[in-house]
Amino acid sequence: MRELFDKSLGAYLGLAIGDALGATVEFMRPREIAAQYGVHRDIIGGGWLKLARGQVTDDTTMSLALGAALLQGGSDALRGQANGDDTLVRSIGNAYVQWWRGKPVDCGNTCRRGIQRFLHEGTLAGPYNPGDAGNGALMRNLPAVLATLGNDPLFKRLSIAQAHLTHHHPLSDAAVLALGQLLRMVLAGSDHHECQLWVDRWTAGNPAFRFTPYRGRATAYVVDTVQTVLHFLNLNQDFEAVLIATVNQGDDADTTGALVGMLAGARCGASRLPQRWLHRLQPAVVQAITDQTSGLLALAQSLK
Ligand code: MN
Ligand code: MN
Repeated sequence: MRELFDKSLGAYLGLAIGDALGATVEFMRPREIAAQYGVHRDIIGGGWLKLARGQVTDDTTMSLALGAALLQGGSDALRGQANGDDTLVRSIGNAYVQWWRGKPVDCGNTCRRGIQRFLHEGTLAGPYNPGDAGNGALMRNLPAVLATLGNDPLFKRLSIAQAHLTHHHPLSDAAVLALGQLLRMVLAGSDHHECQLWVDRWTAGNPAFRFTPYRGRATAYVVDTVQTVLHFLNLNQDFEAVLIATVNQGDDADTTGALVGMLAGARCGASRLPQRWLHRLQPAVVQAITDQTSGLLALAQSLK
């Protein structure tokens, strides 16, 4: 259990570290990053959002909103969700509304549109929309994975439900389930080779996401995001090296950084995250992440 906690906390803190590190170079081209920073390797804030040093963005704060809604609902709400009751999804929608009303530092267009639809129409999903293939549902799904460890059908059902509040697209759905499944495997102790085999099988069945040869595109289009994440995770096993390589690819660097940080952080565990990065995060964020990690794992335990 202590090892599971360390890996889960490593994933959640890794997500925040990748978000904070990548946000500085979000929307920049690799060549622009090289000209300005050489290699971007420190959490210094700035970027187009003019962030404070160590500040995180929507990737982390939307995850925290989802985690808080799951913890508030508790195991009764999760059991209801497993039985087809929508109450939990509705509270997740409300949590996203609250998050948005809190004037987050950034919010993607598809997220904003979905949140407004939920607010005005009360619907839990929009109709299928070819414009919904961004990475906004994918970037925030970690708490749903933690809360449902050990319950595969509920993991899938909850992940898709939280995703559809804002994103309704088969490529987004596939990405949410695949990176969620990978995270579950790493937390359950699968090694690099087992994960690679799983990824090979998954990309064979979902050829849009094939990432070799890597096309070098790291945009918020969920296919580009997943290709970038899998490409860099595959290249290197060291948390620091893999995260630096990822964010220096630029473009949606906070989100590719967050997702690589999540999976690489699960691999190494919180105790082996680079201290120089961990100490730059805002203490309140580290505290909220630590509290949520224990709460979400306890929830998962209560469902067994
Ligand atoms: Mn962001
Ligand atoms: Mn982003």
